[in-house]
Amino acid sequence: MKNHINTDFDLIIAGAGPAGLSAAIYAGRAGLKVLVLEKEAPGGKVIKTGEIENYPGFTNIQGPDLAMHFFEQATAMGAEFEFSGLKDFERNEVFNVELENGKTLTSKALIIATGTKENLIGVPGEVELYGKGVSYCAVCDGSFYKEMPVAVVGGGYSAIEESMFLTRFASKVYLIHRSQKFRVDNKTLEKAKSNNKIEFILDSIVESIEGTDKVSSVKIKNTINYSKSEIEVNAVFPFIGHYPVSHFVKQIQILDEDKHVVGDEKMRTKIEGLFVAGDVRNTPFRQIVTATSDGALAGQNAVNYIESLD
Ligand code: NAP
Repeated sequence: MKNHINTDFDLIIAGAGPAGLSAAIYAGRAGLKVLVLEKEAPGGKVIKTGEIENYPGFTNIQGPDLAMHFFEQATAMGAEFEFSGLKDFERNEVFNVELENGKTLTSKALIIATGTKENLIGVPGEVELYGKGVSYCAVCDGSFYKEMPVAVVGGGYSAIEESMFLTRFASKVYLIHRSQKFRVDNKTLEKAKSNNKIEFILDSIVESIEGTDKVSSVKIKNTINYSKSEIEVNAVFPFIGHYPVSHFVKQIQILDEDKHVVGDEKMRTKIEGLFVAGDVRNTPFRQIVTATSDGALAGQNAVNYIESLD
């Protein structure tokens, strides 16, 4: 890319989930020198997802396989990768981007595609037994619980889909949800309801996760009649929503009240040259396909922005 401004990269993309990798594919294909920052494995939450049935082009694909396709495609388009998180950034004439590994790099444009992180239930035992039966990734840890009973908490897509995934291994999956209302489409819900390994425990909240060295049970309370009970399980998988990864954004004018980064229809923020894409954006619908769409828009509009600097 011809440009009079000298920077380490034309474009830095924070986050290698579907949004960040799609942006890298578009920007790399247009000839930009692109760096993608990621402190975990490329693919974002897709890596932690089992079967995916709603990403166009694949009737059924495993999350890690789809993530690998995204990564290979971004690499083939010339994107470079640095395995570090974004610590801070500031825009003067160009972006000064500080990485968690101590490096400082410059770029002409920056895309925030850092996604979201899992909420904790916030009950006794959850933090203490993390890695000892408490897990936020069924794909990563489900196979440790062959022929054992496990609990899933939540009533959204993550809870329902991961419950179904866990039935491959577990002897039983208790799906604990605080109401009778689910945040999923009927087909998905009916599929879970017809799975005889899943027992729905509704109108119930987890009060504590029990165990000394490893999870042994969950204590729950019914929210209608306040009755309490204890269920023996070897693992608890909380899937109760996510919060945006935007702690490194000091410029509060680009955040909404929930700390999502606000972007317009071109994925532009209020800061010139700064774009946003994917689940970290203030979007009403968080899917892999919407993240890739955001990424394409952010990537292409970053290309247009950098060309306009010439
Ligand atoms: P979600 O859709 O926000 O659902 C969170 C669930 O957890 C809700 O049922 C909520 O109950 C419950 N919950 C929230 N706080 C709780 C608490 N403190 N204690 C107990 N339960 C609590 O979250 P998600 O399932 O993680 O999905 C996040 C986003 O990713 C969504 O936009 C979803 O559509 C998307 N997603 C899509 C797919 C797919 O399409 N295949 C797969 C995974 C995720 P209430 O309803 O009572 O608030």
